Amino acid sequence: MDHFLYRDGELYAEDVPLAEIAAQVGTPFYVYSHATLTRHFTLFDEALSGMDHLVCYAMKAASNQAILKIMAGLGAGMDVVSGGEYRRAVAAGVPGDKIVFSGVGKTREEMTLALTHGVRQFNLESEPEMEVLNEVALSLGVVAPVTVRVNPDVDAKTHAKIATGKSENKFGIPIARAREVYARIAQLPGLKAVGIDVHIGSQLTDLEPYRLAFTKVAELTDSLRADGHDIIRLDLGGGLGIPYERGNAAPPLPVEYGALVKEVLGDKGVEIEIEPGRLIAGNAGLMVSKVIYVKKGEGRDFLIIDGAMNDLVRPAMYDAHHDIVPVKEATPGVEQQPYDVVGPVCETGDTFAKGRSLAPLVAGDLVAFRSAGAYGAVMASEYNTRPLIPEVLVKGDQFEVIRARPSFEEIINRDTIPEWV
Ligand SMILES: *Cc1c(COP(=O)(O)O)cnc(C)c1O
Repeated sequence: MDHFLYRDGELYAEDVPLAEIAAQVGTPFYVYSHATLTRHFTLFDEALSGMDHLVCYAMKAASNQAILKIMAGLGAGMDVVSGGEYRRAVAAGVPGDKIVFSGVGKTREEMTLALTHGVRQFNLESEPEMEVLNEVALSLGVVAPVTVRVNPDVDAKTHAKIATGKSENKFGIPIARAREVYARIAQLPGLKAVGIDVHIGSQLTDLEPYRLAFTKVAELTDSLRADGHDIIRLDLGGGLGIPYERGNAAPPLPVEYGALVKEVLGDKGVEIEIEPGRLIAGNAGLMVSKVIYVKKGEGRDFLIIDGAMNDLVRPAMYDAHHDIVPVKEATPGVEQQPYDVVGPVCETGDTFAKGRSLAPLVAGDLVAFRSAGAYGAVMASEYNTRPLIPEVLVKGDQFEVIRARPSFEEIINRDTIPEWV
């Protein structure tokens, strides 16, 4: 459920008509619903109630400071994957002991930053990283709390580009080697193992891969404890999928995911961490765009809109589906027609949908891309010198731009021309 609904034939974000935002900020833009963001975080938090737990929002899904502030206000921790994200979390007021540092390529600078300002734990992804973190911690005179991200070799049954838990993926350490690796950690005075981490992929639409992975983690918890390690925390990663296509079978709900966690790990006496990103932000955001031209083609028409692959790259990058709906509700019973929905960028890949059935549209009409809140604005670029599009936050009947569209001067002035050119 989200808070983008039609009222009197007009699509609203909570109590604000999208057409009103478009008139004020121009198109295209992203818009997020405060109520939806809050609801999704709360669903996860409640799903784990009764267990010691922390929901760490995976901010790479949508990292605007206003969104982070909402999460921080709800008591969320953060999962960060870079020094930049770490700084964003701190800037939003998240205490260091609620920040989990993930990622396969952490640098010494990033480790120093997090160890100096505070960190809940580093999720280690390789043995070379482990040795480097030990050195950095010792040089600062501190002990770094760590987990090892284990790769359970399960098939997450998701898009190949976002599956991370198979042995051929670059992530984590093969679970079969985990005992050896934890034994090495015990020898390193700059590190203290506090738990185990696993994250098998994104946009999972089935609980079975989770069950397989969590069961392996439960077994590993027992064997590591038997080896003398103090496993107090399990980080189960993120990845629960969202319904991108209305009418299709819906993915499992947070409450079902929570029940599985309790069933498989409830008796381990550990604190549970989860790192949802997409499910919190995805259906809390839309991208709104305007039709520039309707171009007649053979067999179908092209809807050329002012949003493009640089603004929302998921269709070009992952063949992702986004529902596209008119901001002015179609007259009931009107005959739909197939459109190829495309942007203005000079790439054939700049295609949002092919042969999509929509009620007839004309130049100037507004359309909304649903489920665009996660991996939308954060993946945008300025390809074709198209300015990063604004982000808007709605709460009730209020709205505000939370990231402004840069001017062309700003964009051009970011470059410098050497004197010798
Ligand atoms: C991307 C990522 C997440 C979040 O995944 P979602 O599918 O957005 O829930 C969580 N943890 C790690 C380590 C990640 O890389």
